[in-house]
Amino acid sequence: MTTWMNAIRSVALAAAATTAGLGWAQPQTEFERHMEASRLNTGGDPTMVHPWRAFYCNLPDDNNQIVLAERTKNSIRVPLTQIMDDVWYIGTEYVGQYILRNGSGFVMIDGGNNAAEMRNFNLPALQSLGLGTAGPLHSALITHGHGDHDGGAAQIKESTGATIYLGSADAANKAYAPITLDSSVLTPYDISTGGRTVTVLSTPGHTPGATGFVIRALDGGKEVKLFVSGGSSMSASSVPAIANYLDSMERTYALLKDMKVDSASNPHVYWDGSLALIKKIQAEGRKTPSQFIIGNEKLLRAFAIGRECTAAWLAKQDPTTSVPVWRVSSLEFLAASPGPNRIAARLSNGWGPVANQTVTFSLQGSGAACTATTDANGVATCGSRFGPLRPGVDRITASFAGATGTGVVDLGSERSATVDSGCSDLAQARSAVGARKGQDRYAERLDLDNNGLIDIRDISGIARLMVPGTTCR
Ligand SMILES: [Zn+2]
Repeated sequence: MTTWMNAIRSVALAAAATTAGLGWAQPQTEFERHMEASRLNTGGDPTMVHPWRAFYCNLPDDNNQIVLAERTKNSIRVPLTQIMDDVWYIGTEYVGQYILRNGSGFVMIDGGNNAAEMRNFNLPALQSLGLGTAGPLHSALITHGHGDHDGGAAQIKESTGATIYLGSADAANKAYAPITLDSSVLTPYDISTGGRTVTVLSTPGHTPGATGFVIRALDGGKEVKLFVSGGSSMSASSVPAIANYLDSMERTYALLKDMKVDSASNPHVYWDGSLALIKKIQAEGRKTPSQFIIGNEKLLRAFAIGRECTAAWLAKQDPTTSVPVWRVSSLEFLAASPGPNRIAARLSNGWGPVANQTVTFSLQGSGAACTATTDANGVATCGSRFGPLRPGVDRITASFAGATGTGVVDLGSERSATVDSGCSDLAQARSAVGARKGQDRYAERLDLDNNGLIDIRDISGIARLMVPGTTCR
């Protein structure tokens, strides 16, 4: 955040205070506060704006036509595509299934639109991957009891003998007689199926029995975790159902954070950008790490946005509700930091710098830590409190645990970086001279004087922050 932007922001806030109720664009109602938060939490990431926010904020009375438009793509097939070492997607551009394989066989996520789809596409796909007596389909985990997710479950059970799992609150009158996962248990728990551990989270909202799953998968030989959402559109309009959806979003966020889940894998692949990533893999081949992995930080941001969209919808249906606004924070090391001479990071969110909060810097592998309070610009500094740090070797983690204020929750954040002599920042700043805020080459961390421009003053400033006598090659 540049100084001039802060100035504009303060003027705007002051103006809003004096023109309250006169139609000023500042949010006034609970609904507007949450909708604004859903926008400010996108953090300038275009994938957070679309698809994530676009779909989570598709309120049933608002722009639901974007979901209806996607539904027409249920006739466009997506061929079996490998997205991890042991995970494949098959389905349509609207909805599909994830196939997991290990040494003892297969597990499938969701059960398809109908029996013909399972016979014509999924069973041949499983056979092509080695389905047989040595590698049976052990189970299908159904995210919720809507027909586009379990329409082929009876066929799958009949053809393979697989066990079908479904949230208990969706299980009435299901011909495929599922093994039920208790929808009233709101804390996450593990089940074991097909030689793998799956973490189950009951997420009532989209349907009463909606269930999310954390899947352990392998990518480039390393374990990664994927979250399969138990239902996406906030189709409910009853206040208790929306309140359940909100609670489910918050519990999902906590689980994704605790388990450091790496990516999303929504059966509705348009919803979370999965389809775009699948197409990318088809076009350029699967890389290591897989293009499918968006990382925990983005995933948490996406669910915080979804949570704000849900809070907005709740406030719209019941204006008497009041829930705090969630603000996504981020930490960024400043120029020449972490360096032998300087450890400084800025804490900010979509509203601006976050002042007066505690940031802890820790030296990985040593237990040494230092805490500092953010100043008015959101900057926390620990100087060179760790003794001699080795460039290219030592690694520093900055973390903000999160905080609760009046009507707001500032979500925690973390950033790690390897100690650098400052040379790489100096080189970056030199190659970015003339870059302005908003341009690709511009990096806020290099703009020491916050004037929205990388210039000679920033370069000499970075040089001054480095250990005297450092020579850069
Ligand atoms: Zn559904």
